[in-house]
Amino acid sequence: MRKILSVIGTTGVGKSNLAVDLCRTLRGQAINSDAMQASQVYKGLDIITNKMPLEERHGVTHHLMDFLDPEDEYKVTEFKRDATQCIEKLSNENQLPVLVGGTNYYMQSLLWRNTLIKETNGESDEEEDRSRSRSPSPEIVPELEVLETPELYDRLKQVDPIMATKWHVSDRRKIMRSLQIFHATGKPQSEIIKEQKAQKETHGAQPRFKALVFWLYADPVALYPRLDERVDKMIETGLFEEIKDLRRRVVAGSITLPGQELEKYQRGLWQAIGYKEFDPYFTAVEENTLEEPDTSPKFKLSELKKIKDECTERMKAATRRYARRQVQWIRNKFLPSVFDSKGDVLVYLLDAGDLDAWNTNVQQKAIDVARAFLEDRPMPDPASFGDVAAKMLSKSDAEDTHARVLNWKKHVCPVCITNKGEVAIMNGDLEWEQHKKSRWHRKSSKRKRMEELTANKPPL
Ligand SMILES: [Zn+2]
Repeated sequence: MRKILSVIGTTGVGKSNLAVDLCRTLRGQAINSDAMQASQVYKGLDIITNKMPLEERHGVTHHLMDFLDPEDEYKVTEFKRDATQCIEKLSNENQLPVLVGGTNYYMQSLLWRNTLIKETNGESDEEEDRSRSRSPSPEIVPELEVLETPELYDRLKQVDPIMATKWHVSDRRKIMRSLQIFHATGKPQSEIIKEQKAQKETHGAQPRFKALVFWLYADPVALYPRLDERVDKMIETGLFEEIKDLRRRVVAGSITLPGQELEKYQRGLWQAIGYKEFDPYFTAVEENTLEEPDTSPKFKLSELKKIKDECTERMKAATRRYARRQVQWIRNKFLPSVFDSKGDVLVYLLDAGDLDAWNTNVQQKAIDVARAFLEDRPMPDPASFGDVAAKMLSKSDAEDTHARVLNWKKHVCPVCITNKGEVAIMNGDLEWEQHKKSRWHRKSSKRKRMEELTANKPPL
């Protein structure tokens, strides 16, 4: 098996820098596995995609970067094919392939076989949504598209009662996906999940490479202020020009393209954090400039500033949320596959919390471990890299997603309503327990109590 290095971790933690450090020391070249960074430099869309500036790459070659148009999607199967070719080519040239990037699902599909039909575990997080829009989803089945959701649900109950008990009757997207899988494969989705689970138990995960993975980790206390700062810096250095540019493309596109094409503006680069968060601000700015010259603008400057500040906060919150999900993903999805890989995939957590200590805590440690790996020397124990490493890499904390998907029960919250106006559904006991402690739930419960109190008041 080919040997590769890989750098994973949350947004803004310094993955690209570590990859450059490794490439420069170990005769390597970087392979980008971030869907956003694959997008072409189009009038400088470097900021919203967090692209590493050329001068920081120190001459290290970066593959699979800057080659897509913003409208184009880069499917996981395409990434897997291109990255595999790239690894072959570099290995033949005696160059070390160093994978780096933030689209975790890409990385997972590259490192292991059998990750193509993804276990649908019902988590509705952004990372999931992003990957699902790229994962080779079964074809759209026209005869299903025309059915109302309750009819779809009835069909699912007939072909796959196990999955039907997991989805809420109004969750069209998940019901549809389970049905599409049935149509595409002729097998109930629950059956496929069971088979995958059985296969994993007999064969373990099947790595495609001998991989040394560095997980760059920074405690939220250290990371979040850095993420906030980065958002401010993005705004200073031209984020708004890029957003305006993307907005112009939507306007231009929506005039000439049929309605369905609009959907593509919910994918590709348009899902980058920052674009939708600033929508209220740009809408307000556009409304102001649309006014007749002799009428006063709809928004005062002070109001515009207030909207802008709110949007900035939203973008910061979205960035932190994304970082949180990336860590959850590594622990709940990535690590279980690592533990099943019987030593072919090794993970070392490096503490990137203190940037002043980068050279000793991150750079030097990574280079030492990588050298041992490349020279087939004995490897250090990953748990020996400090308390955080020992805790985050512990097996007991990582859950087996296969076991979880087959065992969970859904809980419908009697008080919470989502911002789409639907009832809030939690998948599994764990999620339900967490939800009951959440601020959202406590607020909803309080509101409900107030409503009941008001309703029970005797009329005056
Ligand atoms: Zn609730």
